[in-house]
Amino acid sequence: MDLSPGIAYFWDRLSKALLEPGSHVSLASLFCALLIAFGVLAVRRYRKGRPVRARVLFRALFPKRIVLSRSSLADIGYFYFNIFVFGLVFGWALLSYHMLSRAVFDALAAAFGPPRPSMLPVLVSRTVITIMLFLGYELGYWLNHYLSHRIPFLWEFHKVHHTATVLTPLTNFRVHPVYMCIFLNILALFTGFANGLGQYAFGQATQQYGLSENNVILVFFIYLYVHLQHSQLWISFTGWLGRVFMSPAHHQIHHSRNPAHFNKNLGSCLALWDWMFGTLHIPSAEREVLDFGVDAERDDAHTIWGELIAPFGRAAHVLGRRLQAPSPQSAPLPASERTRA
Ligand SMILES: [Zn+2]
Ligand SMILES: [Zn+2]
Repeated sequence: MDLSPGIAYFWDRLSKALLEPGSHVSLASLFCALLIAFGVLAVRRYRKGRPVRARVLFRALFPKRIVLSRSSLADIGYFYFNIFVFGLVFGWALLSYHMLSRAVFDALAAAFGPPRPSMLPVLVSRTVITIMLFLGYELGYWLNHYLSHRIPFLWEFHKVHHTATVLTPLTNFRVHPVYMCIFLNILALFTGFANGLGQYAFGQATQQYGLSENNVILVFFIYLYVHLQHSQLWISFTGWLGRVFMSPAHHQIHHSRNPAHFNKNLGSCLALWDWMFGTLHIPSAEREVLDFGVDAERDDAHTIWGELIAPFGRAAHVLGRRLQAPSPQSAPLPASERTRA
């Protein structure tokens, strides 16, 4: 088929995103999330003695007020932007990943001598490096998210994700390019460090187990519940499970407008780092009624101007006030510019 370069580019990006099994938004993983959502709803209705019909379940999962809301429609725009326009940034992050990985390897070799060949079976060394890279990813994710909530300048860019007033799997793409640049490079630092460490310990040829070049443990969680974190379906892990894993309800609490929930549950797949660093809020087993969003709906919320361009002005304003103010106590920022403290 003779496709023009433009169409070929769009098809290439779209097929990589939707058809590769290890992609963050593969159709296979979305279908898996849908099956889990149907299953959970069906079991809940059955236990209550209510009829389990496919049409009722479908309506419960895709109510018009969510699907057709301005927030959901804006998320489609973010999906388009991040899939088709923003791919270049991944290249920069990859560069810093390889550079750091190499630097850590060289530093260890300089300090402790050249690496000795590993006596471990390949299965063991690859499994360990896969776990190391996954934990590095999770810690980098947590730290970037923590900084994005705590530093007012960064919050102006991350706030875009929190302006969603309803949650769907596409809300995952509702992120500002500046946030993504910082996020990907912090991730590259942590995973690059883990990889350098692993390659020194097990040999440079040791690779993680991956699917479409994505860490296989991360892919497992994408199939299991990551999509459902941005949904209205309350699936809650409590007890020790809630201290280790970031259930969909954990992340819904992260989006809540209740001040008791601000700056909580900053992890991706794991709640472990939140638990260790004191930012964990375990959801209750029963559904909690939550309002999503940041503040009262602005006129320019969900628009390109309001969420893509205006954050630069708001961040510059925050920076200007910080530079002018001799101390935070003498010049408190207005509520609209404060991080979620
Ligand atoms: Zn956040
Ligand atoms: Zn979110």
